[in-house]
Amino acid sequence: MHAVTLIKGDGIGPSIMEEAVKIIDASGVKIQWEEAYAGMAAFEQFGTPLPDETMASIDKTRLAFKGPLTTGVGGTGFRSINVALRQKYDLYANVRPAKNWPGVVTRFDNVDIVIVRENTEGLYAGLEHYLTPKKDIAESLAVVTRAGSERIIEYAFKYARDNDRKKVTVCHKANILKYTQGLFLDVAREIAPKYPDIQFDEKIIDAACMHMVMDPTQFDVIVCTNMFGDILSDLTAGLVGGLGLIPGANIGADAALFEAVHGSAPDITGKNLANPTAVIMAGVMMLHHLGEHAAADKIQTAVEKVVNEGQFVTPDLNPQSNCGTVEMGNAIVAAMK
Ligand code: NAD
Repeated sequence: MHAVTLIKGDGIGPSIMEEAVKIIDASGVKIQWEEAYAGMAAFEQFGTPLPDETMASIDKTRLAFKGPLTTGVGGTGFRSINVALRQKYDLYANVRPAKNWPGVVTRFDNVDIVIVRENTEGLYAGLEHYLTPKKDIAESLAVVTRAGSERIIEYAFKYARDNDRKKVTVCHKANILKYTQGLFLDVAREIAPKYPDIQFDEKIIDAACMHMVMDPTQFDVIVCTNMFGDILSDLTAGLVGGLGLIPGANIGADAALFEAVHGSAPDITGKNLANPTAVIMAGVMMLHHLGEHAAADKIQTAVEKVVNEGQFVTPDLNPQSNCGTVEMGNAIVAAMK
């Protein structure tokens, strides 16, 4: 029996997480879900977006399965709870795989990219303030450390080796941000020769975006600092069929959190339109992390069958479909039998 902290999240979160939990339970794996709250849902219920009870649960389980959380844009509202959780549990590696599904028609048909994003430093370190009482000058500080760069770049190369990948590309902006991005690139250049079996490439981030939409097949594993990884992973999602398909793992030395890449999607909340695939695939990543490979493979096979057949899928995958979140979840459970 594995104990997992379950945070259903905001917006479409509860609806997709309920399908994911239903499917994971139907796989036969024994999980004791400890429900906890964070984000807007927690703020409304407990007056804080990250209650002590939620952290007490993760302190114990060291493992969370989380739906998307709403974060207000701009100066109003609380700071991102996603960023807070990643920093508190030192979940330094954010791994986001994007691969074509044969049944989902996109511009390219052989995309297979894994973004390995540094998850605790960079421009998302949370060092932001106004410099004047009138609040007409604002400053954000990016923090890049040698230790933080070494562990994420080592992680990317080890991931490539362990997963039979051929190439690691570091995406950076060291031509302009000579200290922060320069340090990250220097560390990548130092570490690359330790992995002679893995091809090493480097691309400036803006050119990388152009290359990615022209010919994404030249990318395999990508490693980058926090904000570039955030942006690039939505780009890779667009290449393979949208945000409804891409899972993410947040990995630390002694804790991990699994979630979808997408957010709480307020535009489709409450309409039974949300695609549950991304969080289900995040569940698959979590089961592999727990060593439950048979259950993970069983779920993945069922998800692939349903998505590739394209009948019982949400409208983001098949605009002709009348199928909703719940019906798609039911089809995946049926495909596991
Ligand atoms: P979003 O990812 O919520 O939505 C972007 C677009 O993708 C929308 O049109 C949405 O309908 C669509 N989409 C997203 N997930 C989908 C799914 N499962 N099925 C079908 N369509 C889907 O991004 P946003 O609108 O920029 O952000 C909304 C909120 O989510 C913000 O408060 C943001 O801060 C938050 N957010 C949270 C996380 C997280 O919790 N990890 C990640 C990203 C954004």
